[in-house]
Amino acid sequence: MRESCGVAAAVGPRATILVYRMLKALQHRGQESAGISWLSEKIVTKKGLGLVENALSPKELDVGATVSIGHVRYSTTGSTTIKDAQPMDNGFISVAFNGTIANYRRLEKQLNLRVNTDTEIILNILSNQIRKGTELEQSLLSFSQMADGAYSVVVLSLRGKVAAMRDPAGFRPLALGRVGTTTVIASETSAIEQIGGEVIRELKAGEVIVLSEEWIRTAERRGEVHTCSFEYVYFSRPDSYIDGISVYEARMRLGEVLALKHPAEGDVVIPVPDSGRPVAIGYSRRSGIHITEGLVRLTNSMRSFIMPSQSSRIKIIQDKFGVVREVMKGRRVIVVDDSIVRGNTMRELIRRIREAGAKEVHVRIGSPPIIFPCYMGVDFPTRDELLAANMEPKEIGEHIGADSVEYLTTEEMMQAIGRVDLCNACFTGIYPLREIPSAEEQRRRFVCRA
Ligand code: 5GP
Ligand code: MG
Repeated sequence: MRESCGVAAAVGPRATILVYRMLKALQHRGQESAGISWLSEKIVTKKGLGLVENALSPKELDVGATVSIGHVRYSTTGSTTIKDAQPMDNGFISVAFNGTIANYRRLEKQLNLRVNTDTEIILNILSNQIRKGTELEQSLLSFSQMADGAYSVVVLSLRGKVAAMRDPAGFRPLALGRVGTTTVIASETSAIEQIGGEVIRELKAGEVIVLSEEWIRTAERRGEVHTCSFEYVYFSRPDSYIDGISVYEARMRLGEVLALKHPAEGDVVIPVPDSGRPVAIGYSRRSGIHITEGLVRLTNSMRSFIMPSQSSRIKIIQDKFGVVREVMKGRRVIVVDDSIVRGNTMRELIRRIREAGAKEVHVRIGSPPIIFPCYMGVDFPTRDELLAANMEPKEIGEHIGADSVEYLTTEEMMQAIGRVDLCNACFTGIYPLREIPSAEEQRRRFVCRA
């Protein structure tokens, strides 16, 4: 099951409350369900559907517990049920995981299992190893030898151990920090800072950390690093750092390179809020064309991206934005966003921008065309639905109603982010996996509701 989620863990005083607060700070990584596990004699797990605030009640949390893990989930498959919510707990260990295991079929066969989610695979492999007497950290390392995919994972054991691992390719981010005397782990650095903590460092690709109040032990499995470039482009919070690079600054540089390599003649730069804003600022800064907020994003808007039908997605986009007529009237506007996926957002916005009287509309995108589905956890639909998979750049312009559309190339994007050890599979079709899921498996597991 494809999931791009957020995980958190804490060992020390106020562990459950700190995990709860970190989950809230990671809410952008998943809004379908939230859950927390802690240890008080036995492993206790509470989970619910929706936002952290609705799914969990702080009053229910055992404030005396000193070990805890948590999860926010963002999945793409049909209905969201509590059964699929994480952490997943078998009474022996509890697991919260962000990512996807691409070779799950092979593992299922090898282990003679029948599972519904990747988390169950981890749960099984780890429990079996630990029952045999293997230490948790060693079990995680051998799991990483068997599993091919993208995952950042936190585990809590009945013995009171908490461990965290970032997969050997480092696809997803994971950070270590401290809040007072409590050691914490979170998917993003900003979540640790949000709760008044201090980031100690980020986990390296393949690294396993065992948390405790007094000590932190580590082990590591080395591999080739392929961190997800879309974490920089869209997914992570702009105030996070990923492998030492500020996400906000990376996004500004995406805009700067865009202005340099893909200039447009226009009177004003308009960001698509919120995710397109830093890219637009960078674009404006480098081009010298001033930036103005011409699109207003309603704060109570719903997410269009995962709605089940094309018409409901468009309806939500209509409800999501307002257009400032005075900014658009008679102007040649340059609309800047971080990405185009299905093209719904841009098409609808341009229709409204023209209605508001814009003379020309030029679109500039802070990432390359998304042509291939993601098997590493990002919620991209099948090729049929990806706009750039089915159209030439010129046709894209016609489809969305723009006078011109330009994207970054993959090289330009890497240059802007400032690293080359990135996974760019959604742009290039080159998957840094040992084996790509078969067509049949892809259909079963990766089909987005259309
Ligand atoms: P489109 O309407 O083209 O399908 O989606 C593009 C818009 O969705 C952009 O404004 C972009 O910021 C945002 N977006 C890109 N990737 C994702 C994602 O994985 N999830 C969600 N919710 N939005 C995304
Ligand atoms: Mg956006």
